[in-house]
Amino acid sequence: MLDFEYTVMRSSRRSLGITVRDGRVIVRVPMRFSNESLCRFLGEHSDWIQKKLAEQEQSRQRFASVKEYRTVLICGTEKKLLLGAAKNSESTDTVCLKEIAYLRKWLEKNYSSCIEEDVYRLGKKIGVMPEDLQVRDFKAKWGSCDSRGLIKINWRILFLRPPLREYILVHELCHLKFLNHSADFWAEVEQFCPSYRKLRKELKDMAFLTELYR
Ligand SMILES: [Zn+2]
Repeated sequence: MLDFEYTVMRSSRRSLGITVRDGRVIVRVPMRFSNESLCRFLGEHSDWIQKKLAEQEQSRQRFASVKEYRTVLICGTEKKLLLGAAKNSESTDTVCLKEIAYLRKWLEKNYSSCIEEDVYRLGKKIGVMPEDLQVRDFKAKWGSCDSRGLIKINWRILFLRPPLREYILVHELCHLKFLNHSADFWAEVEQFCPSYRKLRKELKDMAFLTELYR
């Protein structure tokens, strides 16, 4: 007996696949795959599925208050968010804003210098420096680097704790040496950010921040 719900998608494929996304389990199987085999297949993977579901539920709950505008993340610190304030201000545990639309302005005014400082510091370490650095808004990525040496960084990295922010900057700076995601590129990233694998995983949980406040 399986204690989770799942959706079965049958197609002309030959292999079996399971995905767990946003708390939903989807099983992809060949057209003529029997129900008995399906149950056995799910049973064999049920530990893995349960683990994924639990992880996703945990991260959904963990950031519920951020998503509901009750709190806001600033450089990885969760602070209380008060909207409708007479003027924008911030203390150690609360951010007061006239409206949510002021959040970007507030963060850029008070924190964007740390992006420039980090890029300069990390660039010196790696031995590269961008031609230009721009702070932008992206819907689905944290940063970009092009062949002219222009690095664009999503202003939303100011929500992230410093090690995560650093990984993003190291990633884009290493693209100044390798404009691809080759093994050489990742070796370079690892040299300057040894825990990048863990950080990349953590960053996936933070992806919702690229869509928030729109
Ligand atoms: Zn990249």
